[in-house]
Amino acid sequence: MPLSVNSYQSHNYKFLLHRWRKICRKSGLRVQKIGKVDDHACYEIYSPALHNRDIIYISAGIHGDESGSTEGLLLWAESNIDQLSSFPLLIYPCLNPWGLINNSRCDASGVDLNRIWESPDNLLIRHILNRTKRLKFKLVLNLHEDFDGRGIYLYEPSSGGRPSKNAEKIIEAGSFLIPPDSRRMIEGRKAKNGIIRPRPTNPPKDGVPEALYFYLEHKCLTYTFETPSEYDLEFRALAQSTMIQRAISIA
Ligand SMILES: [Zn+2]
Repeated sequence: MPLSVNSYQSHNYKFLLHRWRKICRKSGLRVQKIGKVDDHACYEIYSPALHNRDIIYISAGIHGDESGSTEGLLLWAESNIDQLSSFPLLIYPCLNPWGLINNSRCDASGVDLNRIWESPDNLLIRHILNRTKRLKFKLVLNLHEDFDGRGIYLYEPSSGGRPSKNAEKIIEAGSFLIPPDSRRMIEGRKAKNGIIRPRPTNPPKDGVPEALYFYLEHKCLTYTFETPSEYDLEFRALAQSTMIQRAISIA
């Protein structure tokens, strides 16, 4: 089904789950209910190829007003039905269902769920911390959007040293659809051609985000993708999907 038909439903959480269940049935991925947060059931999706190491972790929708992330992840899965069950995947298709339904960055209590990964008072995030404690990751992707974004960009946390060219390759892949954000400062950090390499020693002042948690705890390759949320949803979802595809292919 072309995405444009679904565009106006990108904040329909039930419809998102319906489409994920369909993907799981077709691909052999497994879906598991974790519990309820803000009165909405939360789910984890994983592959039969998931073991203790080399895991590909992808999450979306931690900020509910960034529906290009949830749609992009779904679109990527829909485009890879035949391969999905052979990837070692651990997926959280929507970390903030109440936020998605209500087009809100925060949860029902006004908490930014991407600032509480040090000591989360949230059932789903606590579950993720327990679930992932002893796992080893090849790649962690956190999907986001930026209301002020002027193009695509990404965060690649770095403790120094010469970075690989992977971030450039991911941006290059996505820029067929949306050009890289040309700003030199994004969210108070230096950016170059849509790439920000934040030092873990300089975290956001208001709390620990998901990406930083994984980078520090699991010492793994971690990317946060950002698409501009004022752009057309179809392009945003396609850009997210294309960047996921590229990141997995080169990880
Ligand atoms: Zn976000």
